[in-house]
Amino acid sequence: MTNALLTMYSDCGCIDDAWRVFNSNDVLDVISYNSMILALGQHARPKEAVELFKRMKFSGLIPDEVTLLNLLSAFNHAGLIHEGLHLFDSMLDMEGIKLTYQHYACVIDMLARSGEIEESMKTIKEMPFEAETSLWRIVLGACSKHGDIETGIKIAEMLFEMEPYEPTNYILLGNICARLGRWTEAEKVRSLMEKRGIDGDDAFSWIEMGQTTHRFGVDDRSHPISEEIYRNLDRLIGSIKAAGYVPDTSFATHSTEKDRREESLRYHCEKLAFAFGDLASPSGDTLRIMKNLRVCGDCHSAYKYFSLVTGRKIVLRDNHSAIFVVAQKCLKLQALHPQRFLYTKVFSSLMSSTLEQSILQPYTQCKQSLERRMRGK
Ligand SMILES: [Zn+2]
Repeated sequence: MTNALLTMYSDCGCIDDAWRVFNSNDVLDVISYNSMILALGQHARPKEAVELFKRMKFSGLIPDEVTLLNLLSAFNHAGLIHEGLHLFDSMLDMEGIKLTYQHYACVIDMLARSGEIEESMKTIKEMPFEAETSLWRIVLGACSKHGDIETGIKIAEMLFEMEPYEPTNYILLGNICARLGRWTEAEKVRSLMEKRGIDGDDAFSWIEMGQTTHRFGVDDRSHPISEEIYRNLDRLIGSIKAAGYVPDTSFATHSTEKDRREESLRYHCEKLAFAFGDLASPSGDTLRIMKNLRVCGDCHSAYKYFSLVTGRKIVLRDNHSAIFVVAQKCLKLQALHPQRFLYTKVFSSLMSSTLEQSILQPYTQCKQSLERRMRGK
């Protein structure tokens, strides 16, 4: 029960409350430690995860496969590739530990995301398991991010054979072509999707307000106050542009004209969800937004500026289970480390900063203020 509560707090972005639940446990067993190490990993606090791992061993408990997987994920989320690989190598010699598919998948994800595409492909070939399509898709996503078109095409062709009707495969390949400015190829991928009758616009984001969940698709105008939402989003985009935001059109998948590419980014579902949340909640409230697919780079950039111009803290979760807490400080960090800027790195710096208390307003408090606001309407 307490472990479920701990996980719930962690999922809501309230890591301090998760710690409180963990520390209030009378009996700490392997499952409690595993849950807390997982939570710390999701919140990009690898140092604390390692400390807790040491504490677990010191208490006499024997870490199992899940403990090591959670620790490995913690390194992965924080982009600590050397630490992750070191742990993985040492696991090969650990007595009583049997490496599972998940351990390999985590290491392959880690390698691919850090740009070591070749090494990740090598690990896929060498591992004693058959790679699932979801793992290939992770590497394909990394090819898109790091501009490796050769490997990307190879993986995409294989995925088209294995799953001819999975839209993400087409979108990812289209993204690689678009990011490299190869618009003719990008259009070809799009028309192939159309020919096969695949709907690529299945991304959606949602936000909870009071008892209601508000869901938004891309370019979605079905919400009852859609007109106000679009007006607010246009206003927000104007403000963030004035603050320095430049739309990253390499994340647009269609059209060859710059203006139209910019237009196609403007009404992404996560931007619509934010514009709605901003309208429907008191200023200064933290907004918690979810997305069914991975958040695109342009939206992540826009979110940092949304936070800057509205003064709001934002918790944005996507299907990659990571939680991004966005705040004004992101911008300063990006300016300090332009090359090393990664969601996870920024997140990890943020989480260890003194801002932590103010960013992670407890979920219940946030809910209460929302409910008060909804009742007042
Ligand atoms: Zn986007």
